[in-house]
This record gives sequence, structure tokens and C-alpha cells, in this order.
Amino acid sequence: MFVGHYATALAAKAIEPRAPMWTLIAGAQLVDIGWSVLVIAGVERGRIDPELPGSPLVLEHMPWTHSLPAAIAWSLAAIVLAKLLLRSPMRVAVVIGAVVFSHWLLDLLVHRPDLELWPSGPKLGFGLWNLEVPEQAVEIGMLGVGAMFWAGQRVRLGLSIWPAAAFFVLLVAVQIIAMLMPKEAADTLVGFGPSALAVYLVLAGVAVFLDGRRASSPQGSA
Ligand SMILES: [Zn+2]
Repeated sequence: MFVGHYATALAAKAIEPRAPMWTLIAGAQLVDIGWSVLVIAGVERGRIDPELPGSPLVLEHMPWTHSLPAAIAWSLAAIVLAKLLLRSPMRVAVVIGAVVFSHWLLDLLVHRPDLELWPSGPKLGFGLWNLEVPEQAVEIGMLGVGAMFWAGQRVRLGLSIWPAAAFFVLLVAVQIIAMLMPKEAADTLVGFGPSALAVYLVLAGVAVFLDGRRASSPQGSA
């Protein structure tokens, strides 16, 4: 799963508009941001098999990011960081933490069984990756639903829907580019890590500019 993860970020923005969009966009992929760094460092391991249907990733060892306890720990850490560093209200921090945890649940849907229930425990994954076209349809469909929730909330707040529309188009474009990339583009996971990390960080950076100001506020200020 790639851009499908951002569906929960967009829906969460509709539920809690006070959450800065960059925290939700980074949060939706926080587990994979950590994974990219640990793959580059050689701590978490796997390989690339271009013969596989759908995603060519074979994720052999990722206890620190994609085991269930690790995902819970990353989510709790996000809540604490949002409280301490961003001084977010508790509801905002909890929404950010829930978005972080949603990553594991969505990975569960698409991954082949590689998500440990506990370190060295049984591995789960429903394997939607093996059905390439339905998997892409689910991701983009979820993203569309999330974008519609966010756009609807912006309308209620008196904000333009253009950031929601533009970001949705950008994410679909990124997904299509990723889909069209030859599976042999990176022959090792260590080679794949930096480009994945760069995409996650650039999209979180773009999200900084998505928290538009009200076109008209009740106080009459611009
Ligand atoms: Zn993941």
C-alpha cells in the first residue's frame, strides 16, 4: 500500500481540522519512514522479487516497524510527540496517533504475511498485493473517499476545496508513476529505501502548504 495510506490522513483532517496536515501526512507513513531508515541502515531486511504479482517487496524482517507491538509503540510515540513538541490538544494528538496506527491495519490488508503479531511471532497479511488491479483500485478509491471527506469539511469551514482536489490529483499521479516504474528499478531493498524515504518526506513537506486560511471567518479577519 502506498497512497492508500493517505486516505486516513485526509479523512482525519475532516474529523479534526486543527491537526496540521503535515502531521497527518507524515503520520500516515510514519511506520514506513522508520522502515526506510532502518532498511537503509540494514537493521530491517528484505529483498525485491520482480517476478511477484503486484508489489515486488519481500519483507523478511521488520520487527521494529511493522510488528503489531511496534506499530502501537510508534502510534503512542506520535501522541506524546504531538503533545510535547507541537503542544497539540489531546484530541488532536490522539487523532494523529490513530492515523499512525491505521498504517498497520491497511498494510495488513495488502501485505503478504509479513506483519508479526509480536517479535518472532506468527506473521499476518491478507495479500491483496497479489491482485494488482483490485489492489490499485482499492487504494485510489479509498484516497478518493478520504479527499471527499476533507473537501466537504473545508466547504463547511468556508475554505476552498482546491487544496483537497490538487493534493488528490498529485497523489494519484505519484501512484501512477510508482505503478509504471519497472520493478527492476531497484534491485535491493537498501537501494529502494532512499527513494521511498524521499517521496514520504516530500509529500509531508507539500502538506505544510495545505492548511489554507479561511476565505471568510466569523470574526471578519482575513
Ligand atoms: Zn508499511
